Amino acid sequence: MARAASLQADGVLRAGPSGIDLLGAEQAVRDLLRALGRDNREPGLRDTPRRVAAAFAELLTHEPVSLTTFANDSGYDELVVVGDIPFHSLCMHHLLPFHGVAHVAYLPGERIIGLSKLARVVELFARELQLQERLTMQVASCLQEHLRPKGVGVVIEAEHMCMSLRGVQKAGTRTTTSALLGLLRDDARTRQEFLSLVTK
Ligand SMILES: [Zn+2]
Repeated sequence: MARAASLQADGVLRAGPSGIDLLGAEQAVRDLLRALGRDNREPGLRDTPRRVAAAFAELLTHEPVSLTTFANDSGYDELVVVGDIPFHSLCMHHLLPFHGVAHVAYLPGERIIGLSKLARVVELFARELQLQERLTMQVASCLQEHLRPKGVGVVIEAEHMCMSLRGVQKAGTRTTTSALLGLLRDDARTRQEFLSLVTK
């Protein structure tokens, strides 16, 4: 089950306990290999269950993110855009990776936030079994909720291994999703400015 990230009393965002049973995952990989007709005793496969379990555990674990905000003392009221944030995640339908870049923007209200935190929020939600649409929405909602800006924009471009490896689409095909909130959705000029900054 997906867990919503929640802001703790110490101002740190965590997405619930990861609940990973490494030994159980190893056994499951052993069973999967057997069910796929593979011989677990083959030298190259002997350590595979342990490696696969560790790899999935890493892909589904993230560092807590401290979302400290600051008073917008200078009254900055133009778009803040951080583009080309690299990320990778796991498709919840196939357990295969999808990866790409996120472009995140907000229009400041009374608070601002460190630029690196925008990338950390992407990472926070990417390290989970995900759908690209949901990842996009979760990043936008999180910033809206914790920063209360005048608007938020998130565009994610990604390549999905479950599509490019299986011949549904050619390798290199990207899927683009966007989530626009507040003035980035409602004000045509602001929306256009954001989209022209992030789409090349
Ligand atoms: Zn998939």
